[in-house]
Amino acid sequence: MFNQLQPVPTDPILGLMTEYKADTNPKKVDLSVGVYKNEVGNTPVLAAVKKAEEYRFNNEQSKAYLGMAGDVKFNELMTNLLFGESDAVNSGRVKTAQTPGGTGALRVAAEFIARCNPSAKIWVTNPTWANHISIFNAAGLQVEEFPYFDFETMGLKFDQTIEALNKVPSGDIVLLHACCHNPSGMDLNIQQWQTVADIAKKQGFTILVDSAYQGFGHGLNEDAAGLRLLASQVDEMIVCSSCSKNFGLYRDRVGAISILGTSSAKAEVAFSVILNVVRAIYSMPPAHGADIVATILSSKELTALWHTELDEMRTRINGLRSFVVNKFKEKNVPGNFDFIANQNGMFSFLGIDKEYITTLKNDYSIYIVGSSRVSIAGVNDSNADYLAESLAKVLN
Ligand code: PLP
Repeated sequence: MFNQLQPVPTDPILGLMTEYKADTNPKKVDLSVGVYKNEVGNTPVLAAVKKAEEYRFNNEQSKAYLGMAGDVKFNELMTNLLFGESDAVNSGRVKTAQTPGGTGALRVAAEFIARCNPSAKIWVTNPTWANHISIFNAAGLQVEEFPYFDFETMGLKFDQTIEALNKVPSGDIVLLHACCHNPSGMDLNIQQWQTVADIAKKQGFTILVDSAYQGFGHGLNEDAAGLRLLASQVDEMIVCSSCSKNFGLYRDRVGAISILGTSSAKAEVAFSVILNVVRAIYSMPPAHGADIVATILSSKELTALWHTELDEMRTRINGLRSFVVNKFKEKNVPGNFDFIANQNGMFSFLGIDKEYITTLKNDYSIYIVGSSRVSIAGVNDSNADYLAESLAKVLN
Protein backbone atom coordinates (compact mmCIF):
# COMPACT_ATOMS: atom_id res chain seq x y z
CA MET A 1 0.00 0.00 0.00
CA PHE A 2 2.75 2.45 0.87
CA ASN A 3 4.85 1.63 -2.21
CA GLN A 4 2.80 3.86 -4.46
CA LEU A 5 3.38 6.97 -2.30
CA GLN A 6 5.46 9.88 -3.55
CA PRO A 7 7.47 11.91 -1.03
CA VAL A 8 5.91 15.24 -0.08
CA PRO A 9 8.36 18.16 0.13
CA THR A 10 8.77 19.52 3.67
CA ASP A 11 7.10 22.80 4.52
CA PRO A 12 9.56 25.40 3.16
CA ILE A 13 9.77 27.29 6.48
CA LEU A 14 10.27 24.17 8.59
CA GLY A 15 12.84 22.97 6.02
CA LEU A 16 14.79 26.22 6.45
CA MET A 17 14.66 25.75 10.22
CA THR A 18 16.40 22.38 9.85
CA GLU A 19 19.04 23.84 7.51
CA TYR A 20 19.65 26.70 9.94
CA LYS A 21 20.16 24.30 12.85
CA ALA A 22 22.74 22.33 10.84
CA ASP A 23 24.62 25.48 9.71
CA THR A 24 27.92 25.86 11.61
CA ASN A 25 28.63 29.48 10.60
CA PRO A 26 28.79 31.40 13.92
CA LYS A 27 27.38 34.47 12.17
CA LYS A 28 24.23 32.70 10.96
CA VAL A 29 20.98 34.68 11.16
CA ASP A 30 17.49 33.13 11.20
CA LEU A 31 14.76 35.42 9.90
CA SER A 32 12.52 32.59 8.75
CA VAL A 33 10.38 31.08 11.46
CA GLY A 34 7.49 33.01 13.04
CA VAL A 35 8.62 32.67 16.61
CA TYR A 36 9.35 35.61 18.91
CA LYS A 37 13.01 35.92 19.89
CA ASN A 38 14.50 38.15 22.56
CA GLU A 39 17.65 40.28 22.29
CA VAL A 40 19.91 37.21 22.60
CA GLY A 41 17.95 35.16 20.09
CA ASN A 42 16.06 32.98 22.58
CA THR A 43 12.36 32.21 22.90
CA PRO A 44 12.10 31.97 26.69
CA VAL A 45 9.16 30.69 28.74
CA LEU A 46 7.30 33.76 30.08
CA ALA A 47 7.62 34.33 33.84
CA ALA A 48 3.80 34.46 34.12
CA VAL A 49 3.67 31.02 32.48
CA LYS A 50 6.33 29.62 34.84
CA LYS A 51 4.34 30.87 37.85
CA ALA A 52 1.10 29.43 36.51
CA GLU A 53 2.87 26.12 35.87
CA GLU A 54 4.13 26.05 39.43
CA TYR A 55 0.58 26.64 40.63
CA ARG A 56 -0.70 23.87 38.37
CA PHE A 57 1.96 21.46 39.59
CA ASN A 58 0.89 22.02 43.18
CA ASN A 59 -2.86 22.14 42.65
CA GLU A 60 -3.82 19.85 39.76
CA GLN A 61 -6.40 17.42 41.11
CA SER A 62 -7.06 15.01 38.27
CA LYS A 63 -6.07 13.98 34.78
CA ALA A 64 -9.53 12.68 33.93
CA TYR A 65 -10.96 13.63 30.52
CA LEU A 66 -11.76 17.32 30.01
CA GLY A 67 -14.58 17.09 27.46
CA MET A 68 -14.77 18.13 23.83
CA ALA A 69 -14.90 21.88 24.51
CA GLY A 70 -11.84 21.71 26.75
CA ASP A 71 -11.38 23.94 29.77
CA VAL A 72 -14.60 25.84 30.45
CA LYS A 73 -12.87 28.61 32.43
CA PHE A 74 -10.32 29.08 29.63
CA ASN A 75 -13.15 29.33 27.10
CA GLU A 76 -14.88 32.06 29.09
CA LEU A 77 -11.65 34.05 29.62
CA MET A 78 -10.62 33.73 25.98
CA THR A 79 -14.06 34.93 24.87
CA ASN A 80 -13.53 38.06 26.98
CA LEU A 81 -9.96 38.56 25.77
CA LEU A 82 -11.08 38.42 22.14
CA PHE A 83 -14.48 40.10 22.21
CA GLY A 84 -14.06 42.48 25.16
CA GLU A 85 -17.12 44.03 26.77
CA SER A 86 -19.64 43.10 24.11
CA ASP A 87 -23.40 42.82 23.61
CA ALA A 88 -22.80 39.73 21.49
CA VAL A 89 -21.13 38.00 24.45
CA ASN A 90 -23.61 39.33 27.03
CA SER A 91 -26.55 38.03 25.01
CA GLY A 92 -25.03 34.53 24.82
CA ARG A 93 -24.43 34.67 21.06
CA VAL A 94 -20.75 33.69 21.39
CA LYS A 95 -19.63 30.13 22.17
CA THR A 96 -15.97 29.18 22.47
CA ALA A 97 -14.19 25.82 22.47
CA GLN A 98 -10.54 25.28 23.36
CA THR A 99 -8.51 23.77 20.50
CA PRO A 100 -4.99 22.42 19.94
CA GLY A 101 -3.42 25.75 18.85
CA GLY A 102 -4.67 28.18 16.25
CA THR A 103 -4.09 25.52 13.59
CA GLY A 104 -6.46 23.18 15.44
CA ALA A 105 -9.05 25.97 15.60
CA LEU A 106 -8.76 26.57 11.85
CA ARG A 107 -9.02 22.85 11.09
CA VAL A 108 -12.18 22.55 13.21
CA ALA A 109 -13.52 25.70 11.51
CA ALA A 110 -12.84 24.13 8.10
CA GLU A 111 -14.80 20.95 8.98
CA PHE A 112 -17.57 23.06 10.51
CA ILE A 113 -17.86 25.17 7.35
CA ALA A 114 -17.94 22.01 5.24
CA ARG A 115 -20.91 20.84 7.37
CA CYS A 116 -22.67 24.21 6.90
CA ASN A 117 -22.06 24.41 3.18
CA PRO A 118 -19.86 21.80 1.43
CA SER A 119 -19.57 24.01 -1.65
CA ALA A 120 -18.49 27.12 0.30
CA LYS A 121 -15.41 28.82 -1.09
CA ILE A 122 -12.89 30.26 1.35
CA TRP A 123 -11.59 33.65 0.22
CA VAL A 124 -8.13 34.42 1.58
CA THR A 125 -5.90 37.47 1.26
CA ASN A 126 -3.24 37.34 -1.45
CA PRO A 127 -0.83 36.51 0.08
CA THR A 128 -1.76 34.68 3.26
CA TRP A 129 -0.19 32.25 5.74
CA ALA A 130 0.51 29.24 3.49
CA ASN A 131 -1.04 26.77 5.92
CA HIS A 132 -4.46 28.47 5.57
CA ILE A 133 -4.71 27.03 2.08
CA SER A 134 -3.64 23.52 3.15
CA ILE A 135 -6.02 23.48 6.13
CA PHE A 136 -9.13 24.39 4.12
CA ASN A 137 -8.18 22.15 1.20
CA ALA A 138 -7.78 19.28 3.67
CA ALA A 139 -11.47 19.67 4.57
CA GLY A 140 -12.36 19.46 0.86
CA LEU A 141 -13.06 23.19 0.55
CA GLN A 142 -12.01 25.32 -2.39
CA VAL A 143 -9.74 28.26 -1.55
CA GLU A 144 -9.77 31.46 -3.62
CA GLU A 145 -7.60 34.56 -3.20
CA PHE A 146 -8.60 38.20 -3.19
CA PRO A 147 -6.14 41.09 -3.77
CA TYR A 148 -4.71 42.48 -0.52
CA PHE A 149 -1.00 43.33 -0.48
CA ASP A 150 0.66 45.45 -3.15
CA PHE A 151 4.30 44.52 -3.80
CA GLU A 152 4.75 47.73 -5.80
CA THR A 153 3.90 50.08 -2.93
CA MET A 154 4.51 47.56 -0.10
CA GLY A 155 1.09 48.62 1.25
CA LEU A 156 -2.52 47.52 0.79
CA LYS A 157 -4.40 47.54 -2.51
CA PHE A 158 -7.65 48.20 -0.71
CA ASP A 159 -9.57 49.42 -3.78
CA GLN A 160 -9.01 46.03 -5.37
CA THR A 161 -9.88 44.29 -2.09
CA ILE A 162 -13.25 46.06 -2.05
CA GLU A 163 -13.89 45.29 -5.68
CA ALA A 164 -13.23 41.57 -5.11
CA LEU A 165 -15.23 41.31 -1.87
CA ASN A 166 -18.20 42.96 -3.58
CA LYS A 167 -18.38 39.86 -5.78
CA VAL A 168 -18.17 37.22 -3.01
CA PRO A 169 -21.59 35.54 -2.76
CA SER A 170 -23.66 34.59 0.25
CA GLY A 171 -22.61 31.17 1.59
CA ASP A 172 -18.90 31.78 1.05
CA ILE A 173 -16.36 32.61 3.76
CA VAL A 174 -13.89 35.51 3.82
CA LEU A 175 -10.84 34.93 6.02
CA LEU A 176 -9.26 38.03 7.56
CA HIS A 177 -6.29 38.35 9.89
CA ALA A 178 -7.27 40.16 13.10
CA CYS A 179 -3.90 41.95 13.27
CA CYS A 180 -0.21 41.57 12.37
CA HIS A 181 -1.03 40.08 8.97
CA ASN A 182 1.14 37.07 8.20
CA PRO A 183 3.13 37.39 5.95
CA SER A 184 2.87 41.09 4.98
CA GLY A 185 2.56 42.98 8.30
CA MET A 186 -0.13 45.19 6.66
CA ASP A 187 -3.38 45.45 8.60
CA LEU A 188 -6.75 47.04 7.87
CA ASN A 189 -7.46 50.29 9.70
CA ILE A 190 -10.77 50.68 11.51
CA GLN A 191 -12.48 52.46 8.58
CA GLN A 192 -11.41 49.62 6.31
CA TRP A 193 -12.82 47.06 8.79
CA GLN A 194 -16.09 49.02 8.66
CA THR A 195 -16.07 48.92 4.86
CA VAL A 196 -15.56 45.15 4.95
CA ALA A 197 -18.36 44.77 7.54
CA ASP A 198 -20.71 46.75 5.26
CA ILE A 199 -19.84 44.59 2.26
CA ALA A 200 -20.30 41.39 4.30
CA LYS A 201 -23.79 42.55 5.36
CA LYS A 202 -24.71 43.52 1.80
CA GLN A 203 -23.36 40.35 0.18
CA GLY A 204 -24.29 37.91 2.95
CA PHE A 205 -20.93 36.14 3.19
CA THR A 206 -19.53 35.04 6.55
CA ILE A 207 -16.25 36.32 7.95
CA LEU A 208 -13.71 34.12 9.68
CA VAL A 209 -11.18 36.11 11.69
CA ASP A 210 -7.83 34.48 12.43
CA SER A 211 -6.36 36.07 15.56
CA ALA A 212 -2.87 34.62 16.05
CA TYR A 213 -1.01 37.73 17.26
CA GLN A 214 -3.29 39.64 19.66
CA GLY A 215 -1.07 42.03 21.63
CA PHE A 216 1.84 41.96 19.16
CA GLY A 217 0.67 44.94 17.07
CA HIS A 218 -0.61 47.89 19.12
CA GLY A 219 -2.05 46.28 22.28
CA LEU A 220 -4.58 43.65 23.34
CA ASN A 221 -7.66 45.83 22.80
CA GLU A 222 -6.32 47.71 19.78
CA ASP A 223 -5.46 44.44 18.01
CA ALA A 224 -9.00 43.13 18.54
CA ALA A 225 -10.72 46.34 17.37
CA GLY A 226 -11.60 45.03 13.88
CA LEU A 227 -12.89 41.73 15.20
CA ARG A 228 -14.99 43.55 17.84
CA LEU A 229 -16.40 45.95 15.26
CA LEU A 230 -17.55 42.99 13.18
CA ALA A 231 -19.00 41.20 16.20
CA SER A 232 -21.13 44.25 17.00
CA GLN A 233 -22.55 44.42 13.48
CA VAL A 234 -22.74 41.07 11.70
CA ASP A 235 -25.18 38.24 12.37
CA GLU A 236 -22.70 35.39 12.26
CA MET A 237 -18.94 35.01 12.33
CA ILE A 238 -16.17 32.58 13.26
CA VAL A 239 -13.03 33.50 15.20
CA CYS A 240 -9.99 31.22 15.39
CA SER A 241 -7.41 32.27 17.95
CA SER A 242 -4.00 31.13 19.12
CA CYS A 243 -2.11 31.52 22.41
CA SER A 244 1.13 30.35 20.79
CA LYS A 245 2.67 33.78 20.30
CA ASN A 246 1.13 36.08 22.92
CA PHE A 247 1.57 33.57 25.76
CA GLY A 248 4.69 32.00 24.20
CA LEU A 249 2.99 28.59 24.49
CA TYR A 250 3.91 27.45 20.98
CA ARG A 251 4.55 23.77 21.73
CA ASP A 252 1.79 23.41 24.31
CA ARG A 253 -0.76 23.80 21.52
CA VAL A 254 -3.45 26.07 22.85
CA GLY A 255 -6.00 28.11 20.93
CA ALA A 256 -9.74 28.44 20.53
CA ILE A 257 -12.62 28.53 18.07
CA SER A 258 -15.45 30.97 18.77
CA ILE A 259 -18.78 31.07 17.01
CA LEU A 260 -21.04 34.11 16.89
CA GLY A 261 -24.64 33.11 16.10
CA THR A 262 -27.70 35.15 15.24
CA SER A 263 -29.13 34.22 18.66
CA SER A 264 -28.01 32.33 21.72
CA ALA A 265 -30.10 29.32 20.64
CA LYS A 266 -28.62 29.31 17.12
CA ALA A 267 -25.10 29.63 18.52
CA GLU A 268 -25.83 26.63 20.77
CA VAL A 269 -26.82 24.52 17.75
CA ALA A 270 -23.71 25.59 15.81
CA PHE A 271 -21.61 24.80 18.87
CA SER A 272 -23.03 21.27 19.07
CA VAL A 273 -21.82 20.76 15.49
CA ILE A 274 -18.37 22.11 16.46
CA LEU A 275 -18.18 19.62 19.34
CA ASN A 276 -19.25 16.81 17.04
CA VAL A 277 -16.46 17.78 14.63
CA VAL A 278 -13.95 17.84 17.51
CA ARG A 279 -15.04 14.40 18.74
CA ALA A 280 -14.24 12.85 15.37
CA ILE A 281 -10.82 14.49 14.98
CA TYR A 282 -9.06 14.53 18.36
CA SER A 283 -11.91 13.97 20.83
CA MET A 284 -10.72 16.68 23.20
CA PRO A 285 -7.86 19.16 23.48
CA PRO A 286 -4.82 18.81 25.76
CA ALA A 287 -5.21 20.36 29.22
CA HIS A 288 -1.86 21.89 30.10
CA GLY A 289 -1.63 25.07 27.97
CA ALA A 290 -5.24 26.10 28.47
CA ASP A 291 -4.94 25.67 32.23
CA ILE A 292 -1.86 27.93 32.20
CA VAL A 293 -3.73 30.62 30.23
CA ALA A 294 -6.79 30.31 32.48
CA THR A 295 -4.62 30.55 35.60
CA ILE A 296 -2.93 33.70 34.28
CA LEU A 297 -6.14 35.38 33.14
CA SER A 298 -8.01 34.63 36.35
CA SER A 299 -5.29 36.09 38.58
CA LYS A 300 -4.87 39.88 38.78
CA GLU A 301 -1.21 39.51 39.69
CA LEU A 302 -0.38 37.04 36.89
CA THR A 303 -2.38 39.03 34.35
CA ALA A 304 -0.39 42.16 35.25
CA LEU A 305 2.86 40.22 34.87
CA TRP A 306 1.73 38.80 31.53
CA HIS A 307 0.76 42.30 30.30
CA THR A 308 4.25 43.55 31.21
CA GLU A 309 5.89 40.67 29.36
CA LEU A 310 3.62 41.05 26.34
CA ASP A 311 4.31 44.81 26.27
CA GLU A 312 8.04 44.03 26.31
CA MET A 313 7.72 41.70 23.32
CA ARG A 314 5.62 44.21 21.37
CA THR A 315 7.88 47.15 22.22
CA ARG A 316 10.92 45.18 21.17
CA ILE A 317 9.39 44.22 17.82
CA ASN A 318 8.16 47.76 17.10
CA GLY A 319 11.53 49.22 18.10
CA LEU A 320 13.31 46.72 15.86
CA ARG A 321 11.23 47.83 12.89
CA SER A 322 12.64 51.38 13.00
CA PHE A 323 16.06 50.06 14.01
CA VAL A 324 16.21 47.82 10.90
CA VAL A 325 15.14 50.67 8.59
CA ASN A 326 17.85 52.95 10.03
CA LYS A 327 20.48 50.21 9.93
CA PHE A 328 19.74 49.52 6.26
CA LYS A 329 20.17 53.25 5.52
CA GLU A 330 23.40 53.44 7.53
CA LYS A 331 24.89 50.49 5.63
CA ASN A 332 23.64 51.75 2.25
CA VAL A 333 21.36 48.83 1.46
CA PRO A 334 19.93 49.87 -1.92
CA GLY A 335 16.18 50.56 -1.97
CA ASN A 336 13.64 52.20 0.30
CA PHE A 337 12.64 50.05 3.28
CA ASP A 338 10.73 52.74 5.21
CA PHE A 339 7.55 50.66 4.91
CA ILE A 340 8.96 48.15 7.44
CA ALA A 341 8.56 50.73 10.21
CA ASN A 342 4.87 51.22 9.42
CA GLN A 343 3.84 47.57 9.46
CA ASN A 344 2.69 45.44 12.40
CA GLY A 345 3.74 42.26 14.14
CA MET A 346 6.65 40.01 13.38
CA PHE A 347 6.60 39.93 9.58
CA SER A 348 7.39 42.07 6.56
CA PHE A 349 8.42 41.35 2.99
CA LEU A 350 11.80 42.71 1.94
CA GLY A 351 10.57 42.60 -1.66
CA ILE A 352 13.85 41.18 -3.01
CA ASP A 353 14.22 38.50 -5.69
CA LYS A 354 14.66 34.78 -4.98
CA GLU A 355 18.23 34.72 -6.37
CA TYR A 356 19.32 37.18 -3.68
CA ILE A 357 17.61 35.13 -0.98
CA THR A 358 19.51 32.04 -2.16
CA THR A 359 22.82 33.95 -2.16
CA LEU A 360 22.11 35.30 1.33
CA LYS A 361 21.62 31.74 2.58
CA ASN A 362 24.45 30.04 0.69
CA ASP A 363 27.13 32.71 1.06
CA TYR A 364 26.16 34.52 4.28
CA SER A 365 24.11 32.00 6.30
CA ILE A 366 21.19 34.43 6.41
CA TYR A 367 17.93 32.48 6.32
CA ILE A 368 14.90 34.17 4.74
CA VAL A 369 11.76 32.51 3.34
CA GLY A 370 11.64 32.38 -0.51
CA SER A 371 8.83 34.96 -0.68
CA SER A 372 11.27 37.45 1.00
CA ARG A 373 9.21 37.41 4.22
CA VAL A 374 11.39 38.21 7.20
CA SER A 375 10.63 37.60 10.86
CA ILE A 376 11.77 40.88 12.40
CA ALA A 377 12.22 39.40 15.89
CA GLY A 378 15.22 37.45 14.54
CA VAL A 379 17.20 40.73 14.37
CA ASN A 380 19.22 41.88 17.40
CA ASP A 381 22.10 44.22 18.27
CA SER A 382 24.73 41.61 17.56
CA ASN A 383 23.52 40.51 14.10
CA ALA A 384 22.04 43.76 12.68
CA ASP A 385 25.33 45.08 11.25
CA TYR A 386 26.17 41.75 9.65
CA LEU A 387 22.65 41.48 8.21
CA ALA A 388 22.66 45.00 6.74
CA GLU A 389 26.23 44.74 5.42
CA SER A 390 25.49 41.38 3.77
CA LEU A 391 22.29 42.71 2.21
CA ALA A 392 24.18 45.76 0.90
CA LYS A 393 26.82 43.50 -0.69
CA VAL A 394 24.29 41.15 -2.26
CA LEU A 395 21.91 43.83 -3.54
CA ASN A 396 24.52 46.29 -4.84
N1 PLP B 1 -2.70 31.82 11.95
C1 PLP B 1 -1.64 32.52 11.56
C2 PLP B 1 -1.83 33.70 10.68
C3 PLP B 1 -0.37 32.14 11.98
O1 PLP B 1 0.68 32.87 11.57
C4 PLP B 1 -0.21 31.02 12.80
C5 PLP B 1 1.12 30.57 13.22
O2 PLP B 1 2.13 30.93 12.73
C6 PLP B 1 -1.37 30.32 13.18
C7 PLP B 1 -2.60 30.75 12.74
C8 PLP B 1 -1.35 29.08 14.02
O3 PLP B 1 -0.67 29.09 15.17
P1 PLP B 1 -0.56 27.84 16.12
O4 PLP B 1 -1.21 26.67 15.49
O5 PLP B 1 0.90 27.63 16.33
O6 PLP B 1 -1.26 28.25 17.39
